[in-house]
Amino acid sequence: MTPQKKIEILQHLIQIPSVNDHETEVADYLAGLFAPYPQAQVEKVPYAPGRDNLVVTIGGAGPQLGLSGHMDVVAPGDTSAWHHDPFGGEVVGDQLFGRGASDMKSGLAAITIAMLEFLEQGTPLKGSVRLLATVGEETGEYGAATLTDAGYADQLAGLVIAEPSGLNQVVYTARGVIDYKVVSTGKSSHSAEPEKGINAIDNLMQFYNAVGPLMAKHTEEDPVLGHLLHNVDLISGGEQINSIPAHAELMANMRTIPATPNQVIYDELEGLIAKLNQQDGVDLKLTYSYPEEAIPGDPNAPLVQLAKQISEEVCQQPAHVVGSGGANDGAEFLRAKADFTSIEMGPGSDTSHQADEYISITEYLQAITVYEKLVPAFFDQLQG
Ligand SMILES: [Zn+2]
Repeated sequence: MTPQKKIEILQHLIQIPSVNDHETEVADYLAGLFAPYPQAQVEKVPYAPGRDNLVVTIGGAGPQLGLSGHMDVVAPGDTSAWHHDPFGGEVVGDQLFGRGASDMKSGLAAITIAMLEFLEQGTPLKGSVRLLATVGEETGEYGAATLTDAGYADQLAGLVIAEPSGLNQVVYTARGVIDYKVVSTGKSSHSAEPEKGINAIDNLMQFYNAVGPLMAKHTEEDPVLGHLLHNVDLISGGEQINSIPAHAELMANMRTIPATPNQVIYDELEGLIAKLNQQDGVDLKLTYSYPEEAIPGDPNAPLVQLAKQISEEVCQQPAHVVGSGGANDGAEFLRAKADFTSIEMGPGSDTSHQADEYISITEYLQAITVYEKLVPAFFDQLQG
């Protein structure tokens, strides 16, 4: 495939505005690229209408390496802050602009093209390669959850997620996340007669005042990720100045580490809620949205070291083995029956989720070469 064709594939992907929806258009486009190769097994796995995951498997008997990327992007935000059409895929010099150029349509295109070139060139593979293209990563990894539940990760011997770490970084461990919400329900009354009401804000504040110290007891320190983070980031309540508030709520974001499994936190939060709810009039309800486990990892795992070595060879610059503060699809895939190493390594710039997001075309093309070298080397490594 010519470099020009590789750039056009990325431009086409950016021109599909798959902002937390419409991933089926991306899946159909990618599936179409495999149409000339009947030996590729192409499956669409629905999450919701218009939101299909895509699984493409090539190669033969032997271990399976997963290559994964998400098809959704975040919204462009204030478009007046952009100097390029967020869904244009404009090229200026070595930079290709657009929402998803970095996070992560360049990575998605690169892993797809690596597979297409194996097919085009008839590269013999001592195993199989599986593209796992997901929906809804940015808002909760539910595409990866769907694929994992359906067994698509059960045969994996390794997983490379092409998230925009930059090719000079191999991410082997990542924080988990717990977003939770507490709703306090009281009873409104005139503020001149507070005894006839139940103040939902007062009750919510009991939770607020207790939860900080409770979470601060987690002093476990991860050597790479640091300690557990807990922040109440949203709070609201009350109806008007002269009414006892009947409703109040808060939302908090937690970033967990492998030393503290999410279940430990759930038990503590639920225990605190149950204790407070024993008081007369207190009615607190706790819910979570798309929590993810932290990804433990070994910096010396063979796949981590192999990715580092190949990236250094291709890019002629040092690559570092690091941890990530953000959750990724790997947290879902690791729930599969197989026991494997999941890494993040992909082309990217520091403009992800920002205006004028771009990718360096040089790095994008290098990423394709990195994946094309990594796949056969991974099979050789496993099979001696
Ligand atoms: Zn991403």
